[in-house]
Amino acid sequence: MDANQRKALNGIIKETLKNLEENGFEAAYVNDRNELLNLIRTIIPENSTTASGGSETLIETGVMDYIKTKTEYTSDRKEAFAVQYYLASANALTIHGELYEVDGRGNRVAAMLFGPEKVIVIAGINKLVLDLREAVERVKTKASPPNCIRLDKSTPCVKTGRCVSPYFDDRHLSALGCTSDGRICSNAVIFSRQMVKKRIMVIIVGEEYGY
Ligand code: SF4
Repeated sequence: MDANQRKALNGIIKETLKNLEENGFEAAYVNDRNELLNLIRTIIPENSTTASGGSETLIETGVMDYIKTKTEYTSDRKEAFAVQYYLASANALTIHGELYEVDGRGNRVAAMLFGPEKVIVIAGINKLVLDLREAVERVKTKASPPNCIRLDKSTPCVKTGRCVSPYFDDRHLSALGCTSDGRICSNAVIFSRQMVKKRIMVIIVGEEYGY
């Protein structure tokens, strides 16, 4: 990315942070993985209770290692509802300050919606999109196919590299045609204006992480 592209991206990040805050999220920006880990250590003290959704971003940034080794981490999906800090990554983050998250089982979006005292969502710059249409298309073309490959699913996208139903219109939105038991795109949530202010914190990292 050259200086002009970086300047344009900075404008998008600034607007996204402002809109997240207007929507009741806590929002922060860090330049890189090291700044992210320093911030996470400040927010989440050692010995806190934590849980997380499955996330390549958390693994790649080292956040998963921190919460698994330095905090009281649970991988029990029901215990996760009672922890102090729940960590997840964004499937897509719109410039309007909305999170778009898609789950197979639903435990991750359920915990993000209700339960844990604080939810921290980490989003690399590759997760930034203009609007919800782009968010849906991003998940179907860039996020879910590699995730299905990573998880060794037998879904149509594993064979073709893209969703069997990759568009936004009302026929394709819920991915008609994907009847696989391994489907990971079953429960989609848009996190928009928040009633409980600052319960969800979104941290944008100025690097690319995850799918
Ligand atoms: S709906 Fe099915 S085919 Fe489409 S991305 Fe999700 S798992 Fe893959």
